[in-house]
Amino acid sequence: MKYSVGGEVDTLCGRCKIERTHRIVALDPDGSIAQVICATCDSRHKYKAPKLPKATSSKPRVTRSEKVKTSAALSLDEMMAMPARPYAMSHLFQIGEIIEHVKFGRGQVIQIQGDKIEVHFGEGVKLLVHGR
Ligand SMILES: [Zn+2]
Repeated sequence: MKYSVGGEVDTLCGRCKIERTHRIVALDPDGSIAQVICATCDSRHKYKAPKLPKATSSKPRVTRSEKVKTSAALSLDEMMAMPARPYAMSHLFQIGEIIEHVKFGRGQVIQIQGDKIEVHFGEGVKLLVHGR
């Protein structure tokens, strides 16, 4: 959806405490709404995008693993394009880090459970130790 300054959008007004029609007065560089003025009470405030479930009719992309918990999980192609750290159990890893495993190949750390990391590889999620 394209917005433009001077356009109207329905959003929650912090002063009216209810959804009101607002006039768009500023846009972010990426085209999303930055600031709006409430048409009812004239207060100017930041626009907060409503939390909508992805309202597309297209089917959700097939994820390789149901256990991926971070929205930052990358596809294998994206992981291949990023620098990766060789996996070794003596290393400490952080969530989001890309690692290169001798057997499983490239993966992204998606969760840390004490001395174990959950890593999302192309073939699925593996539990590996770290910091040993
Ligand atoms: Zn208002």
